[in-house]
Amino acid sequence: MSSFKRVILLGPPASGKGTQAKHIGKTLTLPILGTGNLLRQAVADQTDLGEKVQEFIENGHYVPDSLIEDLVKDWVEKQKGNWIFDGFPRTQQQADFISETEVINSPDLVIGLDVPVEELERRINCRRQCRKCDAVTSTFIHELPACPEEGCDGELYARNDDAIDSFRVRYAQYEELTAPLFTRYEKLGILLRVDGAKTPKEVTEQIHVHLTNSSTS
Ligand code: AMP
Repeated sequence: MSSFKRVILLGPPASGKGTQAKHIGKTLTLPILGTGNLLRQAVADQTDLGEKVQEFIENGHYVPDSLIEDLVKDWVEKQKGNWIFDGFPRTQQQADFISETEVINSPDLVIGLDVPVEELERRINCRRQCRKCDAVTSTFIHELPACPEEGCDGELYARNDDAIDSFRVRYAQYEELTAPLFTRYEKLGILLRVDGAKTPKEVTEQIHVHLTNSSTS
């Protein structure tokens, strides 16, 4: 298997970043930082940070760079090692922060998920998240009584910011601030572009092929 040590998952809301991060984390034995999950936890715990970011998140706006950067630096310092980032960076400033902060170190692989907006809207309508383990699942086929992850059974909820109006704000922010990062990482020669509109299993397979081929090339 490949020797990638620092991996970024880039893509619009509901493109499957979290789901794919889990698979890659298992395959490469790397810890995952989901900045959205960490921020939602801060809101649920009513911490100082949670109070500062709650309104941004609920309205679908990005949280200010400075707040998120401290959070990421603290997390990496505690991990003392390599990482997968799900949902970070989302702006050029955050990408600069990664490359300029010694303790974080630069990514060696960026996986960019391409999904058309119509498909994202379909997914957002059906998306449910587990309060206990943060797993993301879909009610597309049938309503789920509880989290389907093995041994979990936690309560499922629809995120406030998955309401269609919030989603559209998030998507507009993504297009303006995050999508240009594809070009940045493409120029560095570390971008793997993947068709994220396929099923989660097919997307995992596309990524897996790259990870396997990179170890032999
Ligand atoms: P996510 O769970 O990744 O969809 O993130 C949920 C929300 O958290 C986003 O809509 C933003 O409000 C906030 N957020 C998460 N990561 C970042 C980031 N890197 N920069 C700014 N805001 C973020």
